[in-house]
Amino acid sequence: MAVNFAALEISIEIHHNFNLITNGMAKLSAIHPEIKPDYCSSPGGPWRPAGFLWFSLALHFAALVSLILMPSFWTPALVGVGLNQLVLTLAGLWPKSRVLGPNWTRLPDPSVARGEVSITIDDGPDPEITPRVLDLLDRYGAKASFFCVAEKARCHPGLCREIVARGHSVENHSLRHRLDFAFSGYRGFLREISEAQSVLTQLSGSAPLFFRAPFGIRNPILEPVLSRLGLQLASWTRRGFDTREHDPGRVYERLVQNLAAGDILLLHDGNAALTRDGEAVILSVLPPLLEAIQKAKLSSVSLRSAQA
Ligand SMILES: [Zn+2]
Repeated sequence: MAVNFAALEISIEIHHNFNLITNGMAKLSAIHPEIKPDYCSSPGGPWRPAGFLWFSLALHFAALVSLILMPSFWTPALVGVGLNQLVLTLAGLWPKSRVLGPNWTRLPDPSVARGEVSITIDDGPDPEITPRVLDLLDRYGAKASFFCVAEKARCHPGLCREIVARGHSVENHSLRHRLDFAFSGYRGFLREISEAQSVLTQLSGSAPLFFRAPFGIRNPILEPVLSRLGLQLASWTRRGFDTREHDPGRVYERLVQNLAAGDILLLHDGNAALTRDGEAVILSVLPPLLEAIQKAKLSSVSLRSAQA
């Protein structure tokens, strides 16, 4: 019987969490009334829970009802809920997953038809590396999206404006790039993302349209917050692992493998690994990568250009 009560308690707790998600929009409004939805300029729009979230909600509700009406049914009910939680957790740990909501892992079809790819550059801006990255992009006539950490941008206020002045876009990569970002609830997500949005808008003169989760990890509560703030989650098609790979050749090979229109590629101007010569890896990878893109008759554009 004690087990039954424990099972019931767990199920109620999980069901409560899902209520938090489904009521998230209203609660966000109550906590931060100054944040208004901007659906007109939003690539996302009002939050519509992904199909699997509706299924999960129904499953949790069914498990709760069965525990109340048929306590002896607790084993299959708990196993079902446990497996469902496992899938939700794995989806949050897999950056390219679309189980929790919309997620750009490739460019939209019209952009693919135009022969476009998009280089995205994370974790900056960096006062030493970002200006050199901008020069390299200029040299090849390429445009990119910079997913900036707002606290870093605040320390180097001229860099965001320079990024935009050179024809690239500044996007939102959270306020502090916290290690525990994925464990945030809606208050934590809202604080990190909305403050970053405000800092980056002020510094760049243009509101970010895309958000990338620190380390690519998230939970089901992130999507309603992004919808509320008019942001679209973006991950990538391929990444070079250039925060821990010191060999630029290997990073390049990973990025150009099956290079094709629609690819979103990930590199870093912040937290970048260094080559044997003490250079940030991105500085050695960009020239051959941009040459490969040109040779394949593709053009590198920012994510916001790709959605036009
Ligand atoms: Zn990052």
